[in-house]
Amino acid sequence: MRCYLQFHLALFIFILCMADSNTPLLYQNRAKPTSTLTLLGASGSVGSTTIDYLERNSSIKLEAISVHRSTGILSRLIRKHSIEKVCITDTTAATGSLLDLKREFPQVEFFSGPTGLIQMVEAAQKSDTVLTAVVGAAGINATLKAIDLGKKIALANKETLVTAGPVIASRLENSESSLIPVDSEHNAIFQVYTGRDHIPDSISQVILTASGGPFRDWSVSEIQNATREQVLNHPTWSMGPKITVDSAGMINKGLELIEAHFLFGVPYRSIQAVIHRDSYVHGMIRTSDGGYLIAVSRPDMVYPVAHALCYPAAVPVAHDPVVEPADWPSLSFEKIDPAKYPGFGLCTQAGKTGGTAPAILNAANEVAVSLFLQNRIRFTDIPDLLEWTLNSINIETGTELGIFVEADQKARALLHERYGDSLQ
Ligand code: MG
Repeated sequence: MRCYLQFHLALFIFILCMADSNTPLLYQNRAKPTSTLTLLGASGSVGSTTIDYLERNSSIKLEAISVHRSTGILSRLIRKHSIEKVCITDTTAATGSLLDLKREFPQVEFFSGPTGLIQMVEAAQKSDTVLTAVVGAAGINATLKAIDLGKKIALANKETLVTAGPVIASRLENSESSLIPVDSEHNAIFQVYTGRDHIPDSISQVILTASGGPFRDWSVSEIQNATREQVLNHPTWSMGPKITVDSAGMINKGLELIEAHFLFGVPYRSIQAVIHRDSYVHGMIRTSDGGYLIAVSRPDMVYPVAHALCYPAAVPVAHDPVVEPADWPSLSFEKIDPAKYPGFGLCTQAGKTGGTAPAILNAANEVAVSLFLQNRIRFTDIPDLLEWTLNSINIETGTELGIFVEADQKARALLHERYGDSLQ
């Protein structure tokens, strides 16, 4: 009887541990250096860095690109890179510009809308890699299509993993695809993780760094009155508005924590984040002996972009300017103040809850950030709205895409209803 109880206790503890950890999603052994690329989100911050890298240093061919509304960049890019396929995901922007573009570039195949994005990924048969740099959960279906087609995914869209991590995990397992992180912290961790990952129990903590955003020296009461301009004034990174708002409240770091859980298969209790003001150290691993492996570079997205595209080969050309260690800023670290960044704690909580909780959190955050950017709510209302939405919707578990899409839509609908918006 005692043996029976011990067995069941051990099984229970095993199941509890399993619920908090998973298989790493990288499948990096399947990856090959990129030769032809489909770039989703060409006009954003990561998209522009990617194009700049390709134009300066690379022989990688650009076959297909997408933009959301920034159609103004298309003519130059199509000409310069002989691009064969283009998608404009915003249907209004597509209606306004497709006629002229088709006349100017009759040889190019054009697509439009969210469905067009998936069709373009499928049509771009020369591409061995898809870099997804679109903003928000809009990247999920195109990423899933690329996984099913066995392409290497260079993932710069964290919302895809946060919203549908279990679906991505199950699709990756059954494909020839690999997933190389482009988010700077995860790419840095990946660089010190590979080589350690095959040694059982050698990694005891995965540590993300955070700049602390523009409010790291503000008091909680000062943050209450933060304006849109102050929120958008990031101290170290130049990024798009959505991720800059996320960074100011450390919700970006919370989403990255969930991203790290899925990417590296580590339980939440083994992932932490620290403030590092200079953004020179992007990620660390604490080894089981208490030592640390850290990855350092200037805060420039060219490092993770080039690494993800070239992997598993080395990036052949140094990114200017190279900074000697004697010229690095001091590598100091601080704890995150939970009272100052309540959104960070909510993300951790949603990650630990699992199931559709991160999808609800992410969708609520996308709507809340958009309301804030329209000056309709205060910055400090964002975490309150996330908590309210998480408490208003039932959490479900599974690996069917439908339950995550439904959770995402419910959260958006609930918030739009609360603010009297007509549903798109
Ligand atoms: Mg990041």
